[in-house]
Amino acid sequence: MEIKFLGGSREVGGNGFLLQEQKTRILLDYGVRIKAGPPQMPLRAAPDAVVLSHAHLDHCGALPVLYHGRKPPLYMTDVSLELTIMLIKDSLKIAKNEGYKLHFSAADVKDAIRYTKLVNYDERFKEGPFRIMLSDAGHIPGSAGIQIECSGLKIFYTGDINTMDTQLLRGAVIPKNMDVLITECTYGMRDHPKRVKEEGRLLSSVEEAISNNERVLIPVFAIGRSQEVLLILEKYAHKIALDGMAKQATEIITYYSKYMKDAKKLKKILNKVFWVRTKEERDHALERYPIIIATAGMLSGGPALYYLRKMRDDVNAKVLFVGFLVDDSPGKILLTTGHFLNNDDSYPVKCQLDRFDLSSHAGETELLKIIQKTNAHDVICIHGDSCESFAAMVSEKFGVKAHAPKRGDVLKI
Ligand SMILES: [Zn+2]
Ligand SMILES: [Zn+2]
Repeated sequence: MEIKFLGGSREVGGNGFLLQEQKTRILLDYGVRIKAGPPQMPLRAAPDAVVLSHAHLDHCGALPVLYHGRKPPLYMTDVSLELTIMLIKDSLKIAKNEGYKLHFSAADVKDAIRYTKLVNYDERFKEGPFRIMLSDAGHIPGSAGIQIECSGLKIFYTGDINTMDTQLLRGAVIPKNMDVLITECTYGMRDHPKRVKEEGRLLSSVEEAISNNERVLIPVFAIGRSQEVLLILEKYAHKIALDGMAKQATEIITYYSKYMKDAKKLKKILNKVFWVRTKEERDHALERYPIIIATAGMLSGGPALYYLRKMRDDVNAKVLFVGFLVDDSPGKILLTTGHFLNNDDSYPVKCQLDRFDLSSHAGETELLKIIQKTNAHDVICIHGDSCESFAAMVSEKFGVKAHAPKRGDVLKI
């Protein structure tokens, strides 16, 4: 079998892995690299079937490109389809607003949807010589690890994976006795701080602001993180205003409640939260609700920017980051310099700034446990900034063949 790495190798962004056996080609994920300006595409592919691990743009953002003239079946979970449609429609909107062209049209998006086949976890399906099954990856609702059997080889692709339970999700299911493991290693070289401690630190910070009558802005990623933060701040639900794509994502995720650890708890919280619907309601939220949860998580756009601009001179207000911040993102720049900088917009922010690690990716220790459990003789390390160092460590620790392929490489297994 051959595996071609179309992107997401030695980098985070633009995932795409093409498996070929005999004449059948199966593509795992097809996402974009997100930087300022137009998203960048992975290398071209013409697969016979496509399988999506989860609805994050670095995994799903380029899928419609594959439907320009071709119609391969596209397998994913039901909630992944709805979330993917939401994200891709948003990409089309952003492209239109910012005046650049994407590599696909609205018609390609429609075709991708038309050829989608919904599958549940643990349900087997077949494409040529490939037997495929999705299992819970614990990363976001509907996220899947992909198990593949082909010509006597057992392969497991983690997608993005989290083995620990969070407030929102159960930890990932890891298969035993695989031959080949294709693993993300976003946090390959470091462990996260203890989850309970980070959740406690976030709660105390919010509590302090509330008792001092101060406001808190929490910029969030729409999918997963906004619902996770709502669950952590449960006892202050009546003091929370929710705005941006976080609302739409929350509605979708709540509908597909089977993916959540405790759907009832989230529904109860959502009944108390103020859902900001109009621009006028944003000012109302600022006056009446001390906790504002709004997209985008890295402050690259969305209503979070409206609130930040209004709160910027308030030295007692807090801006609390709860997600990954790419190095040159406005969120990271703000956190390190105290200055907001995005496109033509630039101003100092006097609020108190802090960051909390509520990651939905396995840390180093958990990744090593996944490798141990799958017991694969070939470990392919992708989706990380330190894939080569991680592969070197894996090979030394377990005495297995560990690879850190570059974009464009082909590996024969
Ligand atoms: Zn992800
Ligand atoms: Zn990812």
